[in-house]
Amino acid sequence: MALNTGRLLRVDLSGGKVAAETIPESIAADFVGGRGYGIRYLYEELPPGIDPLGEKNKLIMLNGPLAGNKAQAVSRWMVCTRSPLTGAFARSACGADFGAWLKFAGYEVIIVEGKAEKPVYLHLTPDGCEILDAGEIWGQNTGETQAWLNERHGKNTRTACIGPAGENLVKYAAIVSDRRTAGRCGTGTVLGSKNLKAIAITAQRNVQLADPEAYDKLAKEQVNIIKNNGAFQSHKEWGTTATQDITNGIGIYPVRNFRYGQHIDYEKITGEEYRKLRTGDMGCYSCPARCGKVHTVASGIYAGAHSEGPEYETIWAFTGPIESSSIEASIAADQLCDDFGLDTISTGGCIGFAYELYEKGLLKKSDTDGLELTYGSHEPMVALVKKIAMREGIGDLLAEGTMRAAASIGKGAEACAIHVKGLELPAYEPRGAKSQGYNYVTANIGANHCYGYAAQDIFGAPFPRPTDRFSEENADVVIFNQDGTASKETGIVCGFSGGWGWADELFGKLLAAARGVKDFEDKDYINKVGERMFNLERAFNVREGFDRKQDTLPKRMLTEPLHTRKAPGEGQIVSHQDEFLDKYYSLRGWSKEGIPTPEKLKEIGLDFVLKDMPVK
Ligand code: SF4
Repeated sequence: MALNTGRLLRVDLSGGKVAAETIPESIAADFVGGRGYGIRYLYEELPPGIDPLGEKNKLIMLNGPLAGNKAQAVSRWMVCTRSPLTGAFARSACGADFGAWLKFAGYEVIIVEGKAEKPVYLHLTPDGCEILDAGEIWGQNTGETQAWLNERHGKNTRTACIGPAGENLVKYAAIVSDRRTAGRCGTGTVLGSKNLKAIAITAQRNVQLADPEAYDKLAKEQVNIIKNNGAFQSHKEWGTTATQDITNGIGIYPVRNFRYGQHIDYEKITGEEYRKLRTGDMGCYSCPARCGKVHTVASGIYAGAHSEGPEYETIWAFTGPIESSSIEASIAADQLCDDFGLDTISTGGCIGFAYELYEKGLLKKSDTDGLELTYGSHEPMVALVKKIAMREGIGDLLAEGTMRAAASIGKGAEACAIHVKGLELPAYEPRGAKSQGYNYVTANIGANHCYGYAAQDIFGAPFPRPTDRFSEENADVVIFNQDGTASKETGIVCGFSGGWGWADELFGKLLAAARGVKDFEDKDYINKVGERMFNLERAFNVREGFDRKQDTLPKRMLTEPLHTRKAPGEGQIVSHQDEFLDKYYSLRGWSKEGIPTPEKLKEIGLDFVLKDMPVK
């Protein structure tokens, strides 16, 4: 088989230059692709201590080696950078067609460096890349921007862009493609800081595989496995629009800024209730699930609201934090987030934070532009989404994220800021799903559910072993989930499809057929790559000054008992965080301070990192 390591496009916005590079075989062998390439290039090229919103930060966009071909659910794409929200490594994944189109244009990686003097966009084709004036679309929302680019460059164009939130440097602005978002960690903010409005790709299908015949055969096997899989059928039917039926049932649906584990009016926000407003579905390139369920509001104050969602996290973000039971308001807020280019999880988290401060008297009506932030009241929530995106009034403070907003308010507001490393928590209560909580604690990007999803706690998954969801003795399972996710994200495999029965058998073989590297068929080899990636991301953070001190849940989870209302878990707190970290670090081969040891770095082939690690 011919070796196919992929190509990289380097865009220097300061100098107005673009250049193509071939990715070296050594990088392909050690990091395979996707998120592996992301951290490898970021670690090597980003000097420590740079301003995430300064000219020296770099933004890396990636597809995976499997993207744009017949295999299913492997054409998503990803962004890696230094996060302006957390200061740590950032990884944010997205769907739709953009990842496949990047492959059709001939690339697996775009590295954006520098800063343009005025708003620009990139237009990429298989024949080259131009840096073009974006004056006409600066200020437009993400739908308008994509329509303008389609009009100008034709229907074979797919775009990733920012909306006003990214332009206004909201710390958790998203990158949007079609109506899918790379939401977390403020990757859209970094694009905004570079005056880069959009990346538009015009291309047609173009296969780039080392062994196309073997790949197609494996893809057929994958399709046969998936179509008979029950988890796939259920995901196709519901997407994640009914996940709250499970999480609320077991008392881990966070309500009132993570003080309760069940919604008081839950029967109004069930999957069946959302289904009543469903008007269509959408999906990603080469995936039959089409798990994005489209909803439209027909009547009432939100009549006409229409969103290609909300999916579970967004359903929660616009109901749980303020205990609203308005499905219609959640659809309207989701639509606004997509239009403005905002991460729905951090937006909902910041709004829940503001409601609690209002309840406690730390924010008054005079601070909130006259809005009454009382629980259950959803109109102020929708108004806040707009204010955050435009940095108007109270929105300017909330646009900084809960960690910074709490520090500037003071007076005890920090106790209401629910984040890990500055990233707002997603929709799983850590006190009732402790392995998920400890994934938040130790994830390199902060509190992210996808980084090592604890399906054992939430769905009773039995691999590598079943867990008691209240136990704090599952460090091995947390590591299994995190490294397993990292290894699959070398190919940017959609996290949902990991449960459809094909990945264990076929993932490595597909990688080998795509790259022409036989070693990738070996599961141990690919698992080791996952561990290497996770450790390199940790080393990136250590180099930026992170250590054990930032590995902590919010104080609320460590000191305040959870109130579940009727579910099991009433009174739970996380009480053994220190012991957990000791065990976790020891299993990882890290020091007591959470620094990868020289022995571990050498064992996993990260010798080049040794010089950067403090001795602690
Ligand atoms: S399962 Fe959903 S998110 Fe994943 S690739 Fe398919 S359509 Fe996209």
